[in-house]
Amino acid sequence: MIVVMKRGATPEQIAHMIERVESLGLKPHPIYGTERTVIAAIGEKRDEHRQSLESGAGVEEVVPILAPYKVASLEVKPEPTVVRAGSLAVGDSHIGMIAGPCSVESESQTLATARAVKAAGATALRGGAFKPRTSPYSFQGLKEKGLEILAAAREETGLAVVTEVIAETDVALVARYADVLQIGARNMQNYRLLEAVGESGKPVLLKRAPAATLDELLLAAEYILNMGNPNVMLCERGIRTFEAHTRFTLPLASVPWLHQRTHLPVVVDPSHGTGHTNLVTAMAMAAVAAGADGLIVEVHPDPETALSDGYQSLTFEQFETLMHRCHAIAGAMGRQIASNDRPL
Ligand code: PEP
Ligand code: MN
Repeated sequence: MIVVMKRGATPEQIAHMIERVESLGLKPHPIYGTERTVIAAIGEKRDEHRQSLESGAGVEEVVPILAPYKVASLEVKPEPTVVRAGSLAVGDSHIGMIAGPCSVESESQTLATARAVKAAGATALRGGAFKPRTSPYSFQGLKEKGLEILAAAREETGLAVVTEVIAETDVALVARYADVLQIGARNMQNYRLLEAVGESGKPVLLKRAPAATLDELLLAAEYILNMGNPNVMLCERGIRTFEAHTRFTLPLASVPWLHQRTHLPVVVDPSHGTGHTNLVTAMAMAAVAAGADGLIVEVHPDPETALSDGYQSLTFEQFETLMHRCHAIAGAMGRQIASNDRPL
């Protein structure tokens, strides 16, 4: 249920209603909007609860939440959420550009990439230190050494660091270095991991699993939000279909569909979404045109020798072209790609 407070309800009335929700055995989730405050009351819906809450001072009405996801839904919070992490802002009028290698391979590779993507206008650096690989015989990442390299790249360029955490037991370690914790496609439904990143309080980039519906993606986000962490970005990174001309199929209708249901920002990954360098820029432009709040793109100094995902990584020059073209599309849509040389 949502307890909608009256415009001008006092802080005391709001605090009182939060207590009332709690005393009914429901979990209160206050959202302080610009117009008014609403309190999402999460738990089993009962008619007598609704009636009892409705009589509270300062309460306008109590309405059921129709969507299966609650805190993520527009019913609870109609204003778009802007997720901020250092140099990165994603959501509403901010288009964030996250770029960098699939894996952190060495200090020189990561620093060179960080400098190049910053010069091209990226607003955050991506790079995996813990890699979830399909084969246990593939490169698994530099782990803590990789995190140290990412921190050094942030130190030099000022770019916020987005990096994946693959296990609940690593959350504290990764959170010490990262600005944004990435939950990879393979872990979208690892619910204990979702709760742990929720608890960490760090902004989270939650990738869609290749076989998950968008409702399942939103319910996964709900696990993080329910830990009191409001800073969740959803990421469309492609799904598995019968089509084999691309690594995954990138359904860009996800962007407007999600925008019609959730206040959370939507990031698109055209690298994993296509799996081919020569398709990435076109799909990045299409994602911006579809209203994406951000992009996450793989870039490597020498894709041919990359230890992971070289076939879908852009060179520095190709990334620069992508940025120019996305600026043009954003401009045509009356939107803007966030600048990286202005403090946000
Ligand atoms: C990645 O970003 O490098 C990655 C492993 O992505 P995904 O989880 O979407 O496969
Ligand atoms: Mn990758």
